[in-house]
Amino acid sequence: MGKILGIIGGGQLGMMIAEAAKKMPNEISEIIVLDPTENCPAAQVGATQIIADFKDKDAIVELSEKSDIITYEIESGDSDILKSVEKNAEINPSPETLRIIQDKYLQKTFLKENNIPVPDFVKIENIEDVKNTLKEYGYPALLKARRDAYDGRGNYKIDSEEMIQEAYDYFKGQKLLLEKFVPFKMEVSVIASRNTKGQIKTYPLVENIHEENILRETIAPARVSEEITKKAELIAEKTMAVLKGAGIFGIEMFVTQDDSIVINEIAPRVHNSGHHSLQSSETSQFEQHLRAILGLELGSTKLIHNTIMYNILGSKEFQGEYKPLEISDEGVFLKMYGKKVSKPLRKLGHFNLVGSKGESIAQLIEKLNTLKDRAAV
Ligand code: ATP
Ligand code: MG
Ligand code: MG
Repeated sequence: MGKILGIIGGGQLGMMIAEAAKKMPNEISEIIVLDPTENCPAAQVGATQIIADFKDKDAIVELSEKSDIITYEIESGDSDILKSVEKNAEINPSPETLRIIQDKYLQKTFLKENNIPVPDFVKIENIEDVKNTLKEYGYPALLKARRDAYDGRGNYKIDSEEMIQEAYDYFKGQKLLLEKFVPFKMEVSVIASRNTKGQIKTYPLVENIHEENILRETIAPARVSEEITKKAELIAEKTMAVLKGAGIFGIEMFVTQDDSIVINEIAPRVHNSGHHSLQSSETSQFEQHLRAILGLELGSTKLIHNTIMYNILGSKEFQGEYKPLEISDEGVFLKMYGKKVSKPLRKLGHFNLVGSKGESIAQLIEKLNTLKDRAAV
């Protein structure tokens, strides 16, 4: 008999987990998602939906009573509530790991204590802390919300002393940290997984290009030297050794000007920079996540084709209903997420541009440039 899988969050990540789960009918018999938006993307692919806020205690209790195993696509769930329902359903990654990761200050402190490199950072209690730390750090620096941030919406870059007040006011009472700006050469990430039995596998290092703090492109593999690749993989391994819990972890890193690696942040969930794996690997990150939390042998993470993932973002000038894109060129795998309404820079879909045998990244980039106009929503 398959298990009933509960997912907190039914956006595109929950949707792609649900799609992978549907291909494992022997292991998973039913999928239930908890999401506040009626007919969320995951519900559109066959998950049963509980419509409620991610932090709604009664809804989480209901989900735990109906599920055998629970996972999540967002890191903003209430780890205390999740801990309290562990008697009803197995939760992976564990609520304790979630508690550390979902708070950027606790996360960075944890990494630092384990000798894993992160940018310099301090906890901010008041505006004086910002002013004093900036005297030491210099400009620019980033004021960051400790919790509930995504797509850079919880970051404020401070370029000069005159900006301190507006940056501080922007966050209105949220808990904050201040972080040194890293003038990185490149952003890279490792998608790592561990199953409940302790087996670990990582996907090859990929390169991430952001626009206005939002991931726009992932290039697999990253265009870096073998030495940098090794360094990044070593840091990912070190991180997995100290971080508890089963599932996929997205480890975002910066390659600094002197070719060292520092971790930007970790996501305790499937990650946008792993979407290439839907076509580039034998095992997608979504299947791998399920294999990990079900305690199955992890699948191959080998990169079969050079691949570029391109995010389709809502236009900055438009908000409202839009027509989903259709692109069916050879080697292009488009996935729209079923969101009805476009908002500026909202993630509406992505496509993977998959290289045929021997096609180089440079050739794929050329191809991508011819597609970008048609990928505008
Ligand atoms: P995500 O959508 O990945 O969860 P987030 O809202 O948690 O994003 P971060 O990952 O902290 O935000 O930052 C978003 C982007 O801002 C990073 O990918 C990077 O481009 C830039 N950034 C963040 N921190 C720094 C830093 N210390 N120095 C330079 N750039 C930074
Ligand atoms: Mg984040
Ligand atoms: Mg990030």
